[in-house]
Order: sequence, then C-alpha cells, then structure tokens
Amino acid sequence: MICIKKVNKYYGKTKVLKGVDMEIRDGEIFGIIGHSGAGKSTLLRCINGLEDYKEGSILVNNKEIRTLNEKQLREMRKELGMIFQHFSLLERKTVFENIALPLECFKYSKEDINKRVLELLDLVGIKDKKDIKPRNLSGGQKQRVAIARALALNPKVLLCDEATSALDPNTTKSILALLKDINKKLGITIVMVTHQMEVIKQICTKVAIMEGGEVLEIGETEEIFLHN
Ligand code: ADP
Ligand code: ADP
Repeated sequence: MICIKKVNKYYGKTKVLKGVDMEIRDGEIFGIIGHSGAGKSTLLRCINGLEDYKEGSILVNNKEIRTLNEKQLREMRKELGMIFQHFSLLERKTVFENIALPLECFKYSKEDINKRVLELLDLVGIKDKKDIKPRNLSGGQKQRVAIARALALNPKVLLCDEATSALDPNTTKSILALLKDINKKLGITIVMVTHQMEVIKQICTKVAIMEGGEVLEIGETEEIFLHN
C-alpha cells in the first residue's frame, strides 16, 4: 500500500528525514512513535504530497507521490484520509456541514451527500449531533466528526497525526476502539503517528520508532516492546 524507500528530506540545510525505509501493508494499523521533532509529521506530509522530498521514493498504490501533478495529487488524496491533534473542524459550520465538505468539493449530488453523511454519523456514533456547531462538542466528539469527514470519500488509508494527544485517557480509549472498529469493518489501513506508547500498545500491529529523522527500529509491536 505505502512503500517508503531511502527518503531524505531537508529544510534548508537541516536534514529532517534520513534514509527512511518503511513498508505499510494493506489492512495494517501501523504506528510511528517518537519524540517531538523526530520527523513523524514531516513523513506523513510527504506521504500525502503536502511536502516535497527530493531523494528516495514514496509509493502509494504503486504511484510515486513526487511525480504526480496537482490534478493527480487531488485524486490520490481521495485515497488518503487524514485527522489531526486539534481536529481542524470549521467552527462556523455544523457537524453535518463539516462532514459534507469533501463530498461538496467533489461535486456529489445533494441526495448522495445527505445519504453518505448520515451513514458516516452512524458509523462514528454521533447521529444526534448533526446540527450542532463544533464548539458545543467534547474533544472526543470533535475527533469523531473529523474521522467521519476523513472517511467521506471512502479512502483506503487513514493517516492520523497525534489524533489522541489532546484527549483524556478514557476518551483516547474510545477513539482508539473506534479506529480499530473502522479498520476491521471497512478494511482501511491506518497509520498512527504518536508520541504515546499506550496508543501503540492498544491498537498497532506494527510499529516504527523514529528519532532525529531516522527509523531506529521497525517490526511487530509485540516483538519490539516485549522487553520494555
Ligand atoms: P509537531 O511536533 O506537532 O509536528 P511542530 O512544532 O514540529 O509540531 O511544528 C508545527 C508547525 O510548525 C508545522 O507546520 C511545522 O511545519 C512548522 N515548523 C516546525 N519547525 C519549524 C522550523 N524550524 N521552521 C519553520 N517551521 C517549522
Ligand atoms: P514530529 O512530527 O516528529 O514532531 P516534525 O516532522 O514536525 O517532527 O519535525 C521534524 C524536524 O523538522 C523538527 O526539527 C522541526 O523543527 C523541523 N521542521 C518541521 N517543519 C519544518 C518547516 N516547515 N521548516 C523548517 N523546519 C521544519
């Protein structure tokens, strides 16, 4: 699904990704853990084409991200849903309208949007919040809206950048349970970038440990953290 080979990335003269190799297979919940500044977000942004990389290769569905033009990138991003630490919802729009946004961008009909948004609200368990503005939701509910929006176009992969870092431990558990459920039910590959070991231990089957732009270790979660 996602094949990363020998990727180097520089900001000016600073090398922030150093020979990163990673293979993320279909249907996996793959964790990338490391301290702040390790290069995790930069790597995610390279995967979805928000950042350029000059050296190495990133294949998503066998397509080299760097070689895609704007139109091809837009198509590719349909396959890659993304969620963030601070949810990135539009405050002036309702829950329904937030989830409908990607569908409107791709010119779905009113009926199709209505049907799809209701399905998604049901999937993430917030049907009753449909007409509410984000400020009246809890953190966990906001992340559920963001997840629904990220899934609107039926992506094959969900990229999660510190998706539970702003949530309390119980809410974190329930969001992780939802992600696991989505992985199982819909077969979506999930990439979890995090600095929280609990996140890795709770849902990730494989894990890569990053530090200073490098992958220190990579493998099955059980094998890597057996001794810790
Ligand atoms: P995180 O660790 O949560 O990814 P950062 O503090 O590293 O957050 O980055 C927050 C934002 O600031 C990002 O958009 C990142 O691209 C940008 N940023 C981080 N470090 C620098 C820097 N040295 N120069 C310019 N922009 C930076
Ligand atoms: P992480 O997500 O693991 O916290 P980042 O990918 O955000 O790490 O950052 C990796 C390194 O790149 C950090 O040293 C950060 O300061 C630097 N960095 C991130 N974004 C930028 C940017 N836009 N410009 C310059 N430096 C950046």
